Amino acid sequence: MLIDAGRGAAMRLFQLGIPIGRIDALLLTHFHSDHTVGIPDLWLTGWLSSHFGNRQRPFNVIGPIGTARLMHHLEAAYAHDIEIRVEDEKLAREHVAITVKEFDEDGVVYQSGDLRVIAFTVDHGHAIKPAYGYRIEYRGRVAVISGDTRYNTNVLRYGEGADILIHEVAMARPELLDEAHIRRIVNHHTSPQEAGRVFAETRPKLAAFTHLVLLASETVTAPTVEELIAATRETYTGPLEVGEDLMTFEIDETVSARRSQT
Ligand SMILES: [Zn+2]
Ligand SMILES: [Zn+2]
Repeated sequence: MLIDAGRGAAMRLFQLGIPIGRIDALLLTHFHSDHTVGIPDLWLTGWLSSHFGNRQRPFNVIGPIGTARLMHHLEAAYAHDIEIRVEDEKLAREHVAITVKEFDEDGVVYQSGDLRVIAFTVDHGHAIKPAYGYRIEYRGRVAVISGDTRYNTNVLRYGEGADILIHEVAMARPELLDEAHIRRIVNHHTSPQEAGRVFAETRPKLAAFTHLVLLASETVTAPTVEELIAATRETYTGPLEVGEDLMTFEIDETVSARRSQT
């Protein structure tokens, strides 16, 4: 299962040795391009006959209302490539087909064996709707991902009892906040102090940051990861990891993070 497909998603999965043809479901949180531009690569490369692809069923996408429209237009955009490959590579048309399940409210959106995924509404700003986070339950373990959101009490509600709570975050130096477009970005996201409040109230075994929006300009440098941690520590003292590419988490009695060896 994959949540969102930003740029480089297929490449990162390759680096982790996870064949993209074996992803059972792609779940979308919202339609900002940084969460969706990797979809065609996953969908189409996952179809190719390489061992990294070789998908033996339709591409399964679950997301808010609008997912069907996005996928329909991608099918139109890549129709020529699909025709060529069916003809030339004899790839099965039914394995490049797309199945979409849309939802428009909080609740269970995916179930497979002991795995259950619950979508919950978040607040990514007035104009950026729909926007959802996900709670993933599997054999008594719970992972929660905030999606892109401002501080939102629905994350507290669905974050209850999480083993790991993965939250987005945004930060800019004070001198950068004079710029309107920077203020707009920051207002669509959660500050480190606010994320710290979410972590302090939900008390996950491990809190982790993802989607680090560390803003900069030509003259003002981006906040460092150390500064991000320090700001979070103003409101939260528990276990904390700052996510990075290829990081993996193991959820057992305790939750541990492992950085890539590469
Ligand atoms: Zn977004
Ligand atoms: Zn985003």
